[in-house]
Amino acid sequence: MGLRRSGKSSIQKVVFHKMSPNETLFLESTNKICREDVSNSSFVNFQIWDFPGQIDFFDPTFDYEMIFRGTGALIFVIDSQDDYMEALARLHLTVTRAYKVNPDINFEIFIHKVDGLSDDHKIETQRDIHQRANDDLADAGLEKIHLSFYLTSIYDHSIFEAFSKVVQKLIPQLPTLENLLNIFISNSGIEKAFLFDVVSKIYIATDSTPVDMQTYELCCDMIDVVIDISCIYGLKEDGAGTPYDKESTAIIKLNNTTVLYLKEVTKFLALVCFVREESFERKGLIDYNFHCFRKAIHEVFEVRMKVVKSRKHQCQM
Ligand code: GDP
Repeated sequence: MGLRRSGKSSIQKVVFHKMSPNETLFLESTNKICREDVSNSSFVNFQIWDFPGQIDFFDPTFDYEMIFRGTGALIFVIDSQDDYMEALARLHLTVTRAYKVNPDINFEIFIHKVDGLSDDHKIETQRDIHQRANDDLADAGLEKIHLSFYLTSIYDHSIFEAFSKVVQKLIPQLPTLENLLNIFISNSGIEKAFLFDVVSKIYIATDSTPVDMQTYELCCDMIDVVIDISCIYGLKEDGAGTPYDKESTAIIKLNNTTVLYLKEVTKFLALVCFVREESFERKGLIDYNFHCFRKAIHEVFEVRMKVVKSRKHQCQM
């Protein structure tokens, strides 16, 4: 959610439809509620609701209770290049309404379009928005509501990184995935590993070593290269097949003795690792460990499928 022209549609198009940031200049502003299912093409089994800026909570045709009841995360986009007082008032109204309906919602605030701000200005804007939003909640006696803040822009990878963090909070198996990644890298001499949703380039988990933005950007670029090359040369002559399948794998050697290694994990997920050249000489070991890792990931999600199915079954009964 967010005011008109804050950047909601642009974020959605850039993250989920590979639109280049410059093309968003020509997007029409959101003027009706749009719902999109991302579940068919992505691991992230969710829907996006794009709300026009000024929704009216008192409009009886808008059943916000129904929407908020099933919501895991509410992302509120604030245009940092504009005067944000009105946005803050809207944020407060939205958060308090949503919280009343569903206190389990994660409130995620994207302080957006920060590409136009200097580093000092970015920090100052974040501090100011953080302070005002929390003061408003405290004045209403709602200091228990937790808001998370992210500085974002569609012109760099910050929007993907922020989305990754939002999605990770919604994955109940996250500690298991992180644990598996930790075991995998420490036994294989790998520096860093990410589990990526290929379509959106959201990373759904990484090992517990710190994430450095440059590493993350390189991994995103690698996915783009692999999928682009595969679209050109990997499909059958009649265009049949998919650019990403069980056979998908790629090795890119950088000129600084680092190797990037990508492998398919599931229909939607890929593992991208950073390996030093000397460790990559033991590729056999890495591949064997990867095989065990892949099997474990499949088991984790099979358990989830069984639980979901049995829950559905109980509901039907
Ligand atoms: P919506 O009404 O909230 O859906 O807003 P739009 O997605 O239509 O975006 C409004 C304008 O903001 C467009 O011209 C976008 O190009 C621009 N915009 C979106 N994100 C960014 C960003 O990160 N940085 C900059 N500088 N402009 C952006």
